[in-house]
Amino acid sequence: VLFGSLAEKLQNTLRKLKSKGKLSEAEVNEALREIRLALLEADVNFKVVKEFLSKVKERAVGQEVLESLTPGQQVVKIVYEELANLMGSHESKINWASRPPTVIVLAGLQGSGKTTTAAKLAYFCQKQGRRPLLVAADVYRPAAVEQLKILGQQCQLPVFSLEEGCSPVDITRLSLEQAVKSGYDPVIVDTAGRLHIDEEMMDELRAIKGTIQPHEVLLVLDAMTGQDAVKVAETFHQQVGLTGVILTKLDGDTRGGAALSVRAVTGCPIKFIGVGEKVEALEAFHPDRIAARILGMGDVLTIIERAQAAFDQAQAREFQRKLRQKDFTLEDFLEQLKQIKKMGSLDELLSLFPGSGPFKQLKGLQVDERELLHMEAIIQSMTPEERRNPTIINGSRKRRIAAGSGTSVQAVNRLLRQFSEAQKLMERLSELSSGKKTKGKGF
Ligand code: GDP
Repeated sequence: VLFGSLAEKLQNTLRKLKSKGKLSEAEVNEALREIRLALLEADVNFKVVKEFLSKVKERAVGQEVLESLTPGQQVVKIVYEELANLMGSHESKINWASRPPTVIVLAGLQGSGKTTTAAKLAYFCQKQGRRPLLVAADVYRPAAVEQLKILGQQCQLPVFSLEEGCSPVDITRLSLEQAVKSGYDPVIVDTAGRLHIDEEMMDELRAIKGTIQPHEVLLVLDAMTGQDAVKVAETFHQQVGLTGVILTKLDGDTRGGAALSVRAVTGCPIKFIGVGEKVEALEAFHPDRIAARILGMGDVLTIIERAQAAFDQAQAREFQRKLRQKDFTLEDFLEQLKQIKKMGSLDELLSLFPGSGPFKQLKGLQVDERELLHMEAIIQSMTPEERRNPTIINGSRKRRIAAGSGTSVQAVNRLLRQFSEAQKLMERLSELSSGKKTKGKGF
């Protein structure tokens, strides 16, 4: 779960507020004190915390809020809006060139995930139907050029590189000529990283910037380094001028200090976030959706997008028909698990749902190939009638199925419990993927 420890503390505080019918100013102040502590523990910049709280307070202790019918919910709404504002309120998209190619320069310290992110970003653009060109301009670390070539090969992305001895400025300039000739867009330049900020690196970035005038200069930052990442961003922005930030390793960052501070401190928007090691693990950054996730309001829009990507419309209609006619069988369940696998990890998907409670049985369920084979074996050991109507599966039937599939009665029980929750989950997903709005659930 994104920013797990921060999310838990904030949600606890806000839950207490929501449960009260009337709120006094003292109770709001107490909640603000808890929020302040949670943010500081999450390594959010202290000035940012101070400003954030004064904005929330100004809006939350007014008479309209305290004397309203649902004061607790009003305060939650204010915290949500200010949290989203802190991170830039809306998605900040790539500044596409009016005349292609769009040139995107990636900068960052070594180990921040810069090279991986270059490949992820190219992959992201490719999925949107563009033809990206990756440029290996990290000439000081020969392994970086090799790494980028390998990543490029894995996803069939072209990588531009020159033999040793060429300057990054030359490489970048020549890659642009190539891009124009071959119709590549965007051009994504992986520049040299250093262990620490030094003059040489800044000079080189300024030189590249001066020569090719990129449309984007994005700084890749390791979110796990918290306030250090924010300081690095300040320095780069002062010395080179950034158009945005990509925060990596958010999957390992339970605190969220960098994500919540970097925009407020530097004024640079976060444009993308890295959420895993795989090349698909890059997301556009939506401050409003992230704020909703942190506060446990769920991220229904992201679920909809994923569901729409994973299910095609015909499948979605077929699911709905089956669900309506109570015709959703265990075989369908297996089919659906395969679909869910395409939507990312199940745990991550479940964490997007509002509230923390639903679908407990499905938490921790590994939908890997082996588990799917086990489930398939269990389901195949059932009679057609049992598959259609699992409620008839009593103790002796369970023992027979377990023996037939080479598993255990516990495994059969687990599958049946998961099936019943999956029915509910599928119902929600198929509603969502058909574009029906889920009204008021969790919000
Ligand atoms: P560079 O030195 O900045 O080019 O860094 P690399 O691209 O070589 O990445 C350093 C390490 O961070 C590699 O092991 C990557 O797999 C890992 N990494 C990069 N982005 C992410 C991310 O979003 N999540 C996780 N978990 N690991 C990442």
